[in-house]
Amino acid sequence: MVLNFGNFTVRIDAERTAQFYREHAKSTSECCECRGCQNFDKAVLKTPKAVLEFLETLGINPCKPAEACDAADEMFDDGTIYYWGFYHICGEIIECPDCWKKEAPEAEKTAELQRGTLYRPDGTEDFKFGFTDDIHLLEEGFPEPCIQLEFDMYLPCVLSGMYDEKTKLKRQK
Ligand SMILES: [Zn+2]
Repeated sequence: MVLNFGNFTVRIDAERTAQFYREHAKSTSECCECRGCQNFDKAVLKTPKAVLEFLETLGINPCKPAEACDAADEMFDDGTIYYWGFYHICGEIIECPDCWKKEAPEAEKTAELQRGTLYRPDGTEDFKFGFTDDIHLLEEGFPEPCIQLEFDMYLPCVLSGMYDEKTKLKRQK
Protein backbone atom coordinates (compact mmCIF):
# COMPACT_ATOMS: atom_id res chain seq x y z
CA MET A 1 0.00 0.00 0.00
CA VAL A 2 1.11 3.55 -0.74
CA LEU A 3 1.19 5.84 2.28
CA ASN A 4 2.03 9.46 2.77
CA PHE A 5 3.71 10.87 5.87
CA GLY A 6 4.53 14.55 5.61
CA ASN A 7 7.36 14.91 3.07
CA PHE A 8 7.57 11.15 2.55
CA THR A 9 5.62 8.85 0.24
CA VAL A 10 6.36 5.14 0.60
CA ARG A 11 4.99 1.88 -0.69
CA ILE A 12 5.12 -0.65 2.10
CA ASP A 13 4.22 -4.25 2.81
CA ALA A 14 3.07 -3.99 6.41
CA GLU A 15 2.09 -7.65 6.64
CA ARG A 16 5.52 -9.01 5.62
CA THR A 17 7.15 -6.46 7.90
CA ALA A 18 4.96 -7.46 10.85
CA GLN A 19 5.62 -11.13 10.21
CA PHE A 20 9.37 -10.55 10.36
CA TYR A 21 9.08 -8.67 13.66
CA ARG A 22 6.89 -11.43 15.11
CA GLU A 23 9.13 -14.29 14.08
CA HIS A 24 12.69 -13.03 13.98
CA ALA A 25 13.60 -9.75 15.59
CA LYS A 26 14.65 -9.45 19.22
CA SER A 27 13.62 -6.59 21.46
CA THR A 28 16.23 -4.07 22.54
CA SER A 29 16.16 -5.29 26.14
CA GLU A 30 16.79 -8.87 25.00
CA CYS A 31 19.83 -7.77 23.01
CA CYS A 32 21.67 -5.72 25.62
CA GLU A 33 21.79 -5.46 29.40
CA CYS A 34 22.71 -1.78 29.62
CA ARG A 35 20.23 0.52 31.30
CA GLY A 36 19.46 2.47 28.15
CA CYS A 37 18.43 -0.70 26.34
CA GLN A 38 16.55 -2.06 29.34
CA ASN A 39 14.59 1.19 29.54
CA PHE A 40 13.85 1.35 25.81
CA ASP A 41 11.25 -1.44 25.51
CA LYS A 42 9.09 -0.16 28.35
CA ALA A 43 9.49 3.51 27.52
CA VAL A 44 8.72 3.20 23.82
CA LEU A 45 5.33 1.66 24.65
CA LYS A 46 4.47 4.83 26.59
CA THR A 47 4.79 7.08 23.55
CA PRO A 48 1.62 8.92 22.43
CA LYS A 49 -1.06 6.95 20.62
CA ALA A 50 -0.31 8.75 17.34
CA VAL A 51 3.29 7.47 17.44
CA LEU A 52 2.32 3.88 18.26
CA GLU A 53 -0.33 3.91 15.53
CA PHE A 54 2.19 5.23 13.00
CA LEU A 55 4.58 2.36 13.79
CA GLU A 56 1.77 -0.19 13.78
CA THR A 57 0.58 1.01 10.36
CA LEU A 58 4.06 0.23 9.03
CA GLY A 59 4.04 -3.24 10.64
CA ILE A 60 6.80 -2.34 13.10
CA ASN A 61 7.03 -3.73 16.63
CA PRO A 62 8.29 -0.62 18.49
CA CYS A 63 10.36 -2.71 20.93
CA LYS A 64 12.45 -4.23 18.14
CA PRO A 65 14.51 -1.59 16.33
CA ALA A 66 17.55 -2.78 14.36
CA GLU A 67 19.51 -0.19 16.34
CA ALA A 68 18.72 2.00 19.33
CA CYS A 69 21.25 4.28 21.00
CA ASP A 70 20.84 6.51 23.98
CA ALA A 71 22.90 9.41 25.12
CA ALA A 72 24.74 7.64 27.95
CA ASP A 73 24.32 9.11 31.41
CA GLU A 74 22.14 11.87 30.19
CA MET A 75 18.64 12.34 31.50
CA PHE A 76 16.91 15.61 30.82
CA ASP A 77 15.15 17.76 33.39
CA ASP A 78 11.77 16.79 31.90
CA GLY A 79 12.49 13.13 32.79
CA THR A 80 13.27 12.05 29.24
CA ILE A 81 16.20 10.29 27.63
CA TYR A 82 17.16 10.98 24.05
CA TYR A 83 17.27 7.94 21.77
CA TRP A 84 18.10 7.59 18.11
CA GLY A 85 18.27 4.62 15.81
CA PHE A 86 16.29 2.88 13.12
CA TYR A 87 13.79 0.20 12.18
CA HIS A 88 13.59 -1.70 8.91
CA ILE A 89 10.45 -1.97 6.81
CA CYS A 90 9.64 -4.07 3.77
CA GLY A 91 8.88 -1.55 1.04
CA GLU A 92 10.28 1.19 -1.12
CA ILE A 93 10.47 4.95 -1.18
CA ILE A 94 8.40 6.69 -3.80
CA GLU A 95 9.19 10.27 -2.88
CA CYS A 96 11.17 11.84 -0.10
CA PRO A 97 13.85 14.27 0.80
CA ASP A 98 16.75 12.03 1.81
CA CYS A 99 16.66 12.50 5.54
CA TRP A 100 20.43 11.97 5.72
CA LYS A 101 22.36 14.62 3.88
CA LYS A 102 26.04 13.95 3.36
CA GLU A 103 28.14 16.92 4.28
CA ALA A 104 30.43 16.13 1.36
CA PRO A 105 29.97 13.48 -1.35
CA GLU A 106 32.80 11.33 0.00
CA ALA A 107 31.92 11.89 3.65
CA GLU A 108 30.00 8.69 4.43
CA LYS A 109 30.36 8.97 8.18
CA THR A 110 29.51 12.61 8.64
CA ALA A 111 26.02 12.53 7.19
CA GLU A 112 23.72 14.74 9.15
CA LEU A 113 20.10 14.01 9.90
CA GLN A 114 17.97 16.70 8.28
CA ARG A 115 15.64 17.14 11.23
CA GLY A 116 13.43 19.76 9.64
CA THR A 117 12.31 17.30 6.97
CA LEU A 118 11.21 14.59 9.39
CA TYR A 119 7.69 13.35 10.01
CA ARG A 120 6.22 14.08 13.44
CA PRO A 121 3.23 11.78 14.12
CA ASP A 122 1.93 13.65 17.15
CA GLY A 123 3.02 17.08 15.98
CA THR A 124 5.59 17.57 18.76
CA GLU A 125 9.37 17.76 18.49
CA ASP A 126 9.71 14.66 20.71
CA PHE A 127 9.08 11.96 18.11
CA LYS A 128 10.52 12.34 14.64
CA PHE A 129 10.90 9.84 11.82
CA GLY A 130 12.44 9.78 8.36
CA PHE A 131 12.62 7.14 5.63
CA THR A 132 15.82 6.37 3.76
CA ASP A 133 17.12 3.68 1.42
CA ASP A 134 20.56 3.91 2.98
CA ILE A 135 20.32 0.61 4.87
CA HIS A 136 22.47 -0.36 7.84
CA LEU A 137 22.62 -3.50 10.02
CA LEU A 138 19.93 -5.31 8.07
CA GLU A 139 18.70 -8.32 10.01
CA GLU A 140 19.31 -11.70 8.37
CA GLY A 141 16.28 -12.83 6.42
CA PHE A 142 14.59 -9.44 6.33
CA PRO A 143 12.08 -9.37 3.44
CA GLU A 144 13.22 -7.39 0.38
CA PRO A 145 12.91 -4.71 -0.87
CA CYS A 146 13.74 -2.90 2.31
CA ILE A 147 13.85 0.66 3.53
CA GLN A 148 15.01 2.15 6.81
CA LEU A 149 13.01 4.29 9.21
CA GLU A 150 15.26 6.60 11.21
CA PHE A 151 13.97 7.75 14.58
CA ASP A 152 14.76 10.54 16.94
CA MET A 153 12.78 10.19 20.18
CA TYR A 154 12.70 11.57 23.70
CA LEU A 155 11.41 8.66 25.79
CA PRO A 156 10.53 8.70 29.48
CA CYS A 157 12.86 7.16 32.00
CA VAL A 158 10.70 4.34 33.40
CA LEU A 159 13.25 2.25 35.31
CA SER A 160 13.49 3.78 38.75
CA GLY A 161 16.92 4.69 40.02
CA MET A 162 18.37 4.27 36.59
CA TYR A 163 19.86 7.70 36.29
CA ASP A 164 21.39 10.03 38.80
CA GLU A 165 18.84 12.75 39.52
CA LYS A 166 21.61 15.25 40.17
CA THR A 167 23.10 15.04 36.71
CA LYS A 168 19.94 15.94 34.83
CA LEU A 169 20.57 18.09 31.82
CA LYS A 170 18.55 21.08 30.88
CA ARG A 171 16.62 20.32 27.76
CA GLN A 172 16.72 22.97 25.04
CA LYS A 173 13.36 23.24 23.34
ZN1 LIG B 1 22.58 -1.32 25.45
